[in-house]
Amino acid sequence: MKFDTKVVRAGITPDPTTGSILPPIYETATYVLEEVGRDKGFDYTRSSNPTRQVLEANLAAIENGQYAISFASGMSAVDAAFKLLSSGEHVICGDDVYGGVTRHLDNVLNRYGLSTTYVNSVDADAVSSAIQPATRMIWIETPTNPLLRITDLEAMVRIAKEHEILLAVDSTFATPVFLRPLEFGVDIVMHSTTKYLSGHNQIIGGVLATNLQKTIGAVSSPFDCWLNLSGLKTLHLRMKRHEESAMRVAGFLESHNKIDWVLYPGLPSHPQHDIAKAQMSGFSGMIAFELKDGAEAGRRLMNTVKLCGLAESLGSVETMITHPATMTHADVPAEDRRKRGFRSESKTLTTS
Ligand code: PLP
Repeated sequence: MKFDTKVVRAGITPDPTTGSILPPIYETATYVLEEVGRDKGFDYTRSSNPTRQVLEANLAAIENGQYAISFASGMSAVDAAFKLLSSGEHVICGDDVYGGVTRHLDNVLNRYGLSTTYVNSVDADAVSSAIQPATRMIWIETPTNPLLRITDLEAMVRIAKEHEILLAVDSTFATPVFLRPLEFGVDIVMHSTTKYLSGHNQIIGGVLATNLQKTIGAVSSPFDCWLNLSGLKTLHLRMKRHEESAMRVAGFLESHNKIDWVLYPGLPSHPQHDIAKAQMSGFSGMIAFELKDGAEAGRRLMNTVKLCGLAESLGSVETMITHPATMTHADVPAEDRRKRGFRSESKTLTTS
């Protein structure tokens, strides 16, 4: 099946009892057994649910993986992935990742004995140098939130395999339309399905796609799975349009005299444009930029934009503008934000 057909069809067959073309929403906690020891494939919704199963089959297929596990949020998927590790083990985490991931590693998982080193994963040598005997996982985003850095996945897979470390990639910004990390040999792909994969600002959700099977975590509700499946049907079309719009907006911003810098992986000026071009089939819809006139000008811009919602989140059909320093990355210490290369007034734009 070609990718666009998979998006619409993979895992989805007419309901066997009614012929319903859409999967029914199985809003049930439990299932009646036919006899002791014999069920119809389902026993309890925390373990499995037919609506969730359809979503998971679709997500696994479009990531070109064997398994996908759907979670109640992106963060619960992140949490489940880190809980593959044990106390005393060590994570190498990209130094530009969603603020909630940093918060979870530094404020919660550290109390359970996981330690973390933050490294700019664009620099493969820096990642290699950060490996310790206890390192068990490399966690990266590509493109990153919010600076849209691109990591060379082939280089990361080489390092991870050489040291027998799990490599996990948060691919929320790319989507499987433009990048399928499992095809590079990555072990775990994570998405906040809240974003592009559902695409309509209706649900909070997450997924882990793998070629290994694990059962952990907080499951997503049948209704949320159903909404996610509805959104997925137009993923390939939405992403192409997001990219087209982002390219135009990024070009406009880059030529504007009040803009200091713009980062969009599709612009030749992006520092990792060549890697992005080689490993992605498109550049997605996220743009980061800063204004020349500082924080006050930024505040004015964000308070006066008409069609962009000033909101946390991204990836829906509405265009949104976010101020990472006070919103998504407020818990990253200002000093660390500066080291990563964004000043307090950095904006991230998601286009529609
Ligand atoms: N990963 C990225 C790149 C994100 O942008 C977000 C949320 O903004 C998350 C993970 C967390 O996902 P959720 O909000 O669905 O828990």
